Amino acid sequence: VWAEAKTDEIDRLKQMERYRKEFLGNVSHELKTPIFNIQGYVLTLLDGGLEDPSINRRYLERTEKSINRLIGIVEDLELITKLEAGELQLNLERFNIISLIEETFEALEERAKQKNITLKLDKEFGKPVWVYADKKRISQVLYNLIINSIFYGKEDGVTTVSVSDIGTRVQVEVNDNGIGIDQKDLPRIFERFYRVDKSRSRDQGGTGLGLAIVKHIIEGHKQVIGVRSSLNQGTTFSFTLDKPKK
Ligand code: ADP
Repeated sequence: VWAEAKTDEIDRLKQMERYRKEFLGNVSHELKTPIFNIQGYVLTLLDGGLEDPSINRRYLERTEKSINRLIGIVEDLELITKLEAGELQLNLERFNIISLIEETFEALEERAKQKNITLKLDKEFGKPVWVYADKKRISQVLYNLIINSIFYGKEDGVTTVSVSDIGTRVQVEVNDNGIGIDQKDLPRIFERFYRVDKSRSRDQGGTGLGLAIVKHIIEGHKQVIGVRSSLNQGTTFSFTLDKPKK
């Protein structure tokens, strides 16, 4: 029995070491792209680009975009590290989830417009839906799910967020009619850095951390998150939240 326990422990340590290496490899890979891009833009500017106003503006704008991307990656890394260490305290409060969805739509309006995607909210007109959760974290969940529905949605598509009362809980669904996810990839999409199509996701600007963050936040609330999808038809993410106790 003692020998068996020891083998298990060694396997576990080996597995952790593999995860650690994989994680570091993924992080440096993610950081490299924007850093090399910035290097290229700066070299172009130094190489005479500065004298041409049309070029220098364009390259400075690109530099800024890459810097924002780096900041986004670092912020996501900080958040996932805290979440995985169980260090993130939830600040539970009563709030209206409908307003939060509307705010998220506003923040993503421009991006949706670029692909002519309509953001639709399915709710009973004017009625607030109260939940008891960490508003800032749920706002991140909504942002990540809705931005994905735009990234992976089709031109002229529709993202629909619906809210329903399922007894003691509220259920929120984010549905798109985009490219969908193959059944074989579905179980893995919540893993950090897991991507179905690496080249496609990367130039869209995701970090591969979004869904891992979403899952941690929802499970931290002792709630559930699920997904169903069919290739080329669309995807629906669904999660629950507690209602306030009165
Ligand atoms: P990323 O930054 O790559 O978007 P995420 O963790 O947010 O990382 O998502 C992981 C992967 O799941 C994505 O790379 C993509 O392949 C897939 N995915 C997520 N949301 C959708 C969606 N709404 N439609 C199709 N595929 C999706």
